[in-house]
Amino acid sequence: MKVCLLASGSKGNSTFVEINGFRLLVDVGLTLKDLIQRLERIQITPSQLDAIIITHEHYDHVKGLARLVRAYSIPVYLNQGTYHHLSRTLKQAFQPHLITTNEPFEIAREILVHPVQTPHDAADPISVIIQHNGSKIGIATDLGFVTRRVGRHLIGANLIVLESNHDEEMLKSSKYPWSLKQRILSKNGHLSNGAFNNALSKLIHCDLEAVFLAHLSEENNCPDLAHRLAVDTVRKSDHPQIAIHVGQQHAPTPLVEL
Ligand SMILES: [Zn+2]
Ligand SMILES: [Zn+2]
Repeated sequence: MKVCLLASGSKGNSTFVEINGFRLLVDVGLTLKDLIQRLERIQITPSQLDAIIITHEHYDHVKGLARLVRAYSIPVYLNQGTYHHLSRTLKQAFQPHLITTNEPFEIAREILVHPVQTPHDAADPISVIIQHNGSKIGIATDLGFVTRRVGRHLIGANLIVLESNHDEEMLKSSKYPWSLKQRILSKNGHLSNGAFNNALSKLIHCDLEAVFLAHLSEENNCPDLAHRLAVDTVRKSDHPQIAIHVGQQHAPTPLVEL
């Protein structure tokens, strides 16, 4: 299993996952040009991609989707609600492989994907759990809080990509309009550093190898602070060897291999 956050943050999100030779992208929130450049850094070309999963219709998750699928006709998996809320141009770019939220499906032989319902202000947003041969990767960003369902599915994951969007104090004292602050802090908004660490402390186990902090706000968070808090959480546990990576907006993370 290999994972690389090609981009992570409110201006664009895309995660590369390779599992048993099957290569997929979760979200395409980069322009085609940026996507190609970042894939090049991990020696991958778009023609080597086998599938795309879209978590929800927000622009920072679908920005480059139309151009990518027009150029490379890669199968796109998404639910009806998300598909329905895409722009007309985007809908015309591909034939969807419709999936049902909370119903696992086999995306390739022995690779099971579980699209898990997630609380966020989009049509039918999902977290993505990928399982193969006893290994599990969990990707959960854009969620107001970690529901029991999402938490249950992340338990036992060997690699977790989890949102650590904002520092609550930085957000509250920021220049953002009140309504936007309320949106981000709401149960359908984004996960704070505190909520991230609370969730992480419950997800640590002996086979958790790596954690990626994702969707950090450039305005209301600080990568060093978020990283330090996550490292503290892991150090306080019985498994301080867990690797912590921070997703960035303008550069890919290392390609982490389990
Ligand atoms: Zn987002
Ligand atoms: Zn979103």
